[in-house]
Amino acid sequence: MIDRFGEKIDDEPDDGDTTVTALSIADCSRCNSRGYFGTTVCDHVPDRIEINRRGMAQVRAVLAAVKRKSADG
Ligand SMILES: [Zn+2]
Repeated sequence: MIDRFGEKIDDEPDDGDTTVTALSIADCSRCNSRGYFGTTVCDHVPDRIEINRRGMAQVRAVLAAVKRKSADG
């Protein structure tokens, strides 16, 4: 199938081995039986929230450093 931008897209996206996906969903404590938490597709990484929290802390630290630097100069 060709999308509106002229690029070929899969009619059925390959989301990997369905057995592995089903086991990942079964083992995951964050998502429902369809692999979603809320409206978000789960990646089944148990410490995803902490990973995201660390990443945002790094972003804030860099932005604060840039702000300090621009205030100095
Ligand atoms: Zn999950």
